[in-house]
Amino acid sequence: MGLLTIGAFAKASRLSPKALRLYDELGLLTPARVDPVTGYRRYAPEQLDRARLVAWLRRLGMPLARIRCVCALDAGAAAREIRAFWAEVEADTAARRDLATFLIDHLSWKDPAMTETTSPLGIRYAALSDAGLVRASNQDTAYAGTRLLAVADGYGGGGGPASAAAVDALKRLETDGIPAGNLLNVLEDAVEQAQRAVRGVTEAGAGADEAGTTLTAMLWTGSRLALVHIGDSRVYLLRDGELFQITHDHTMVQAMVDEGRLSAEEAASHPQRSLLLRALGQGTPDLRLHDARRGDRYLLCSDGLSAVVPSEEIRRVLAATGEPEPAVRELVDLANASGGPDNVSCVVADVMETQG
Ligand code: MN
Repeated sequence: MGLLTIGAFAKASRLSPKALRLYDELGLLTPARVDPVTGYRRYAPEQLDRARLVAWLRRLGMPLARIRCVCALDAGAAAREIRAFWAEVEADTAARRDLATFLIDHLSWKDPAMTETTSPLGIRYAALSDAGLVRASNQDTAYAGTRLLAVADGYGGGGGPASAAAVDALKRLETDGIPAGNLLNVLEDAVEQAQRAVRGVTEAGAGADEAGTTLTAMLWTGSRLALVHIGDSRVYLLRDGELFQITHDHTMVQAMVDEGRLSAEEAASHPQRSLLLRALGQGTPDLRLHDARRGDRYLLCSDGLSAVVPSEEIRRVLAATGEPEPAVRELVDLANASGGPDNVSCVVADVMETQG
């Protein structure tokens, strides 16, 4: 079969002659022959597939350098590369969506103290962490104070120091005042400090590759709770007797559930359910603001609880237990009664009116 002129090839591939000349210069799509005298480009019909792929990848928004890599791969590897690219795009979009939501919440919020005459709100809280019945050590860290609630689940050699370092780095939020309007920056700085602290710990540990930690923390501002979350620890909210999971697990199985490739039931018993897609320092944490309501009860927990105790059981305990202290005790006991296969950490915080 004869070679096509650039005009005919452009028409068949739905790329403009201008785009074809650019792709030639970039080495994405080299013409089969270039006339040495006239400089006219000629294309082989077999090059149409590649030209169409380039056109579709351009439409997808893939950068040219990455298109060049994809075009050099066989079909299976190219498919995997496109999937990986799209996962990055979605993660980036999700992070920006969260940021937009955070800013909208932040800017549209009115201080209830200015408009209402209700008593100021405060939190009462308890934290408990336990090694469980199988693991030799406890790599979880749980913390609760007047402003900060946090659970971190360390993994790998050095996972314990990593989770402790992450929570320690956030503890300065307990003492530093939070300037109004500066919450997002304060949280971002705190997370950056936590990342640095974890990097320091994991790099210092000999052979501590793969070590790291999840981090799920809430900062009480006096009327709202700011949430920072990365990994597979969770936050549940008990409100009016109903239990809501307000965090999204950054795990492989959760991503498969989101894509409709796995049911929630299959995910719960999946052998790789603890495989993390994000952890502290690897990916962007979710940031969110929650308006506090009197009577709200928050639970922060590591997967040592949520993996073995059904959410209906969690709801029952949270609804039936008065003080935070016995609630965390009973939840940890339930995890251990289910075999205690993992370290388990629980933080419970109640939003209530403060007297005087
Ligand atoms: Mn765990």
